[in-house]
Amino acid sequence: MTLHTGRHFLQIPGPTNIPDRVLRAMDMPGMDHRSAEFAELGFAVMAASQRMFRTRQPVLIYPSSGTGAWEAAIVNALSPGDKVLMAETGQFAVLWLGIAEKFRLDVDFVPGDWRRGADIGEIEARLAADREHKIKAVMAVHNETSTGCVTHPLEVRKALDRTGHPALLMVDTISGVGSQEYEHDAWGIDVSVGGSQKALMLPPGLGFNAVSEKALAAAKANPSMRSYWDWHEVIAFNKVGTWPYTPAVNLLYGLKEAIAMLEEEGLDNVFARHRRHGAATRAAVKAWGLETQCQDPHAYSPALTGVRVPEGHDADHFRKVVLDHFDMSLGTGLNKVKGKVFRIGHIGHFNDLMLMGTLSGIEMGLDLANVPHRSGGVLAAMDVLKGRDVASRPKAAVA
Ligand code: PLP
Repeated sequence: MTLHTGRHFLQIPGPTNIPDRVLRAMDMPGMDHRSAEFAELGFAVMAASQRMFRTRQPVLIYPSSGTGAWEAAIVNALSPGDKVLMAETGQFAVLWLGIAEKFRLDVDFVPGDWRRGADIGEIEARLAADREHKIKAVMAVHNETSTGCVTHPLEVRKALDRTGHPALLMVDTISGVGSQEYEHDAWGIDVSVGGSQKALMLPPGLGFNAVSEKALAAAKANPSMRSYWDWHEVIAFNKVGTWPYTPAVNLLYGLKEAIAMLEEEGLDNVFARHRRHGAATRAAVKAWGLETQCQDPHAYSPALTGVRVPEGHDADHFRKVVLDHFDMSLGTGLNKVKGKVFRIGHIGHFNDLMLMGTLSGIEMGLDLANVPHRSGGVLAAMDVLKGRDVASRPKAAVA
């Protein structure tokens, strides 16, 4: 094993880098999760989570991965045989589809090429054609972490409204919330699914469901089997600041601190920072002469960038060269883009110089792995970070 010095660069799009402040906040002794002291923490994190999802409705916090929160959304709001509409935006849409099928939902899956967000026109057409309102939910992935393409939830909401369709709107914003605008209430989302290990800057282990009144009513009327994930059972306990089971106490301390940090920066500034890092990364990719996996500028993700390696080259070999030489982890290509794509995470606890380190490691790695490219990507990204474009650089510097 190669010995590395300094800090590992964790540039996968989740789990992300955990701020020292959050690590310190979690470094606490065990506590009685039925005590008044715990209830104070419980109420604080529930309120903070509502501010992150921008809702006045309950936000359920499960000790689970994001996959658990996906399942929670399904088993509460839907029953076997219910028809749902989903869109193939990438691997995470495919995985959510897999869970829906295991619960015997009847899924209408709008096909996609993994290079853009969901096809809103097609979603609208299928909703319009469903005159008997058989579709019970539209399920969309906000920030598709496997591709770096965004589906704007408000556009899906508008498609539902234009067709007067009453289906629930369920959105996976696991890598969206905290990295870009997200408005659970204002966008009329019924179930928002979140996870801790992305823009919330925490270790994996917390899953979130923000739920609308309409979703809660659907769950109340839903006789299907569920226990651990039952929204109403958790909400009853949440009313006194606790959970029906032992909550992930130390992760909740971390959650409180992480949201405090995001709010100190200001959510608008957090989102602008992610957008800026996305733009600088794409400028580097363009200067290298490589292609981003996302082909639609309207869908570019501020949280991560998927990059395609030229035909005949293996993205995973390139990632290994970067890891071996520079101790940096980049995201692998998933499922049908395995070996074709690597992913650069610019999400969470991150700054300009971390991005420069990341892009420098990639540019050197492209050379070392003999991946055909042009140099100058790091310089192009610097120009974006300095707020200048290449054309405005002094002539001598451009030459
Ligand atoms: N949805 C999205 C968009 C994700 O990025 C992920 C994980 O990367 C998941 C769902 C699954 O979450 P987990 O791996 O925490 O179960």
